[in-house]
Amino acid sequence: MLAEPARGVALHSGVIPARTPGGRPASWAATGRSGGCSLPPYDSLNLGLHVGDDPVSVGENLDRLCREIGLAGLAWPRGVHGTLVVEATAPGDLGEADAVITCESGLGIAVVGADCLLVGLAGDDDRTVAVVHCGWRGLVGDVIGATVDALAARGVRPRMAVLGPAICGACYPVPLERAQQVHDSCPAEVADAAVIRCADGQPGIDVRLGVHARLAGLGVKADQVVSLNRCTAEDPALFSYRRDGRTGRHGLVMVSQGSIANL
Ligand SMILES: [Zn+2]
Repeated sequence: MLAEPARGVALHSGVIPARTPGGRPASWAATGRSGGCSLPPYDSLNLGLHVGDDPVSVGENLDRLCREIGLAGLAWPRGVHGTLVVEATAPGDLGEADAVITCESGLGIAVVGADCLLVGLAGDDDRTVAVVHCGWRGLVGDVIGATVDALAARGVRPRMAVLGPAICGACYPVPLERAQQVHDSCPAEVADAAVIRCADGQPGIDVRLGVHARLAGLGVKADQVVSLNRCTAEDPALFSYRRDGRTGRHGLVMVSQGSIANL
């Protein structure tokens, strides 16, 4: 369950052991910039098809990721900072959405980002997994709550969460109006955690802290959360839109009932 540095294209990966009799583990992997074939400013493992990179390079990067972590295929949505949750039953582009659920054995589902928090959830049925793309708009819209509701509609509760890299609050100063919007729209405990004060007194938004608080409100306690505390803006191994503007996207992959090859 610990986040271990992995070989190859994955920066970190881990297994979430099964708890039910006959259940199978879920697994996850987080990617960074290295190991791909995209040219600057997308160098090199860009997984985003919508950022101006050559689609042939992105396709090769996705293939390389699948090969190296032993997946037959990957399904991913195009994040739009909304709250739509879709189900994946086969590999491929799922269209515009910010959360994906699957219980398809061995299918990888992924979200990509360059500052937004990428979240993985493993269900208590040892079958169902979800991935979520969440920035400040995701906090305001409650994409985490929407995903947990979608799991509940299937009779599943989240048992473990993985929080991938994201920009930290100190690196993400925002105008007062945006901090106010988070305060006005989110549960108090989420807003209190997410809105921080930067060194110069300006408010900043720390999505990771906000999602921690939201998950706690939904019954996912701190000891059920693995958090990769890497700041995208500070870490040159990660893509950061805030730091670089035009850039690529790294990803978080969850696999239902299957192991990632290089663990
Ligand atoms: Zn930072």
